[in-house]
Amino acid sequence: MANVLVIGSGAREHAIAATMLKSPQVTNVYCAPGNPGMKKDNIQIVDIDEMDFPNLVEFAKEHLVDLTFVGPEVPLSKGIVDAFIAARLRVFGPDESAARLESDKTFAKGFMARNNIPTAQFKTFTTFDDAEKYAESLSLPLVVKENGLAAGKGVTIVKDSADLAATIQHALDKAGEILIEEFLEGEEFSLMLFVGGDKKVVFPISQDHKKIYEGETGPNTGGMGAYSPVPHITQDVLDVTVQKIVNPTMAGLAKEDLEFAGIIYIGCMLTKQGPKVIEYNLRLGDPETQVLLPQLKSDFYQMTSDLIDHQMPKVEWQEGEFYLGVMVSAPGYPTSPKQHIALPDDLPRNIFYAGVTEEDGKLYSSGGRIFTLYNHASTLECAQAKVYAELSRLDLSGFYYRKDIGFRDL
Ligand code: AMP
Repeated sequence: MANVLVIGSGAREHAIAATMLKSPQVTNVYCAPGNPGMKKDNIQIVDIDEMDFPNLVEFAKEHLVDLTFVGPEVPLSKGIVDAFIAARLRVFGPDESAARLESDKTFAKGFMARNNIPTAQFKTFTTFDDAEKYAESLSLPLVVKENGLAAGKGVTIVKDSADLAATIQHALDKAGEILIEEFLEGEEFSLMLFVGGDKKVVFPISQDHKKIYEGETGPNTGGMGAYSPVPHITQDVLDVTVQKIVNPTMAGLAKEDLEFAGIIYIGCMLTKQGPKVIEYNLRLGDPETQVLLPQLKSDFYQMTSDLIDHQMPKVEWQEGEFYLGVMVSAPGYPTSPKQHIALPDDLPRNIFYAGVTEEDGKLYSSGGRIFTLYNHASTLECAQAKVYAELSRLDLSGFYYRKDIGFRDL
């Protein structure tokens, strides 16, 4: 029997931990720091910060943890996996050098260039004059990206030349190094792979909704909802993406001595010239995970454990079902979310919690994104109807959620 530790505190980590607990091999699932909403699923929350590597390692040793799964990008980019491996503990996630594919966009672009992986043209800059000169030589729109982790908020699409100088200056002030990139036109989609050395498991396609308001308008957020699979991304597109992007990525990792056991989440744009990479993430998406992991029928613990051993796991998916999840957020999110709003007492079980605290056995909001409610059905339309029917039965008048998750395929 096995014990599992999940690192992180969001709805993504709740989904990871709950799916681990479904494995007949797993006895205890701990989540550090977790959130109190997870307790309804018998996940044991552990009061250790996700950046406190020495105490996390100590906890894993003391509690005979067999496998640690790291959810968020910040501890990965700071070498949490290296700390666990150094302590001879089994851990699922990229080490610090592979995690650079997410945390260092210049490094990622160089990797794509070296390995012939299609992506937008770009250049990197640290000074305003050079950046402005290059930007003026391109046609609009163009994309200005801060280098480094920015929780999805470091990218600006410049459509009007009057905004160019201020955008470049602002990004340089914030990040020190920026990328100026060709704007890719097309349909955006993401593909998640679980990898272990040269072995890979391709997950169903999912679509998230990044903007705060309906119809994809307003500022970017961490993600307001997701669904999977995605009917408008066909098997043909998936096959071409595997051939042109996934396979060269795996080959590049091997060639550059960057292989690991963990996740490669590829943000793609389906352009007229075929799929191109927008970015790599080296962890699961949130909220995509909340609609992906419930589709897994086979043993999640066995799958990650096999991949750590660089063995090909047996994987079985729920066929013919559509999954949809809606993120309920605090009003004011993403700029200044209102805090400490009481959650209704009669919440259903099909919820993954994120920004919540507990007082006297009652849950209150603490953060921007509060929980994901998800459900499934044999059509996307029915899955969406089920989720919104459940949400409308609850008293969520103090909260906000988008009413159109799934709209592109409905
Ligand atoms: P990233 O943080 O790199 O994923 O960028 C955030 C979002 O900005 C993406 O999900 C895209 O919607 C958009 N984006 C980034 N790069 C480009 C690009 N080269 N062309 C068009 N849109 C882009």
